[in-house]
Amino acid sequence: MMGLNREKCTTCERDGVVVVRPYSGERLCRSCFLQNFERRVQKTITKYDMLREDDRIAVALSGGKDSLTLLRVLVKIERRFPKASVVAITVDEGIPGYREEALENARRACEELRVEQVVITFEEAFGFTASEAVEGGYADELRLGACSVCGVLRRKAIELGAMRAGATVIATAHTLDDIVQTYLMNALRGDLNHPPIGLRRDGTGALPRVAPLRLTPEREVILYAYYSGIPMQEVECPYSSGSQRSLIRSFLNEFEERYPGSLYAALRSLENLLNRSRGSDFERGTCRLCGLPSGQDLCRSCEIVSSIVNLKAERLRRVPAVLQTAFT
Ligand SMILES: [Zn+2]
Ligand SMILES: [Zn+2]
Repeated sequence: MMGLNREKCTTCERDGVVVVRPYSGERLCRSCFLQNFERRVQKTITKYDMLREDDRIAVALSGGKDSLTLLRVLVKIERRFPKASVVAITVDEGIPGYREEALENARRACEELRVEQVVITFEEAFGFTASEAVEGGYADELRLGACSVCGVLRRKAIELGAMRAGATVIATAHTLDDIVQTYLMNALRGDLNHPPIGLRRDGTGALPRVAPLRLTPEREVILYAYYSGIPMQEVECPYSSGSQRSLIRSFLNEFEERYPGSLYAALRSLENLLNRSRGSDFERGTCRLCGLPSGQDLCRSCEIVSSIVNLKAERLRRVPAVLQTAFT
């Protein structure tokens, strides 16, 4: 799919097709694809009324190809709106040997695109790193997968970083694939009582979140990144294997390959189901500790953080008194 071939581009009718879209029959040359990709992001933003002309947009920038792509496209779009601004929020979860490369890619992209960057670490926000939560056995003790702990805390850290940067909205790089995966995971858990992902909801008490890539398949993000020189990290997170999401992902990939268009169909039908339960409010109260919206007394991230902090303190108490001075 990635090599040039002799077919003609269905848009400009020149040679050199680099992208074939099985779900629409389009065949695009490099420059038509890049343009079309950016236009689709713009259309998605307009279609769902995601951004306002004077927004301060916090882009959740992990440094992976998806978020680097989103940042690049949003910066281009934002240039047409003089009252809007973009700031990147990068979370350093603290996973040595894995995160350094992407963190460096994030830093370089901000420098190149002249975007202000706020970096926030798990350590400063919560008092422990992701590695400590997993390798210290805390995630296990809480009977949570590494990805759940990391995912919930990353979301919170992005919120904190965006608030610090004075943002009015958070843009995340969730793709069509990511969103359908999450909907399916929720559905398989019997839980459809969630608001649609990546659609702006103002006035909830938290910053609204939008996903401008929600109508873009992951495969095309990879191609966009490839053809515009965005670095792609090869190393996988050491803690990610065997997660629920990777099972669903491989199922959906295989299905989409055999039946092109399935991802769009799944997004539409799952969102119709969600819309039916939309009348109920999702977060009824606020978290006692952080004040963000929560259906429970404590929000999920405060629950996880306080459990880990308590477990740590408990372990420290079990250390013989004579050794304790070494820890303090
Ligand atoms: Zn073309
Ligand atoms: Zn909280």
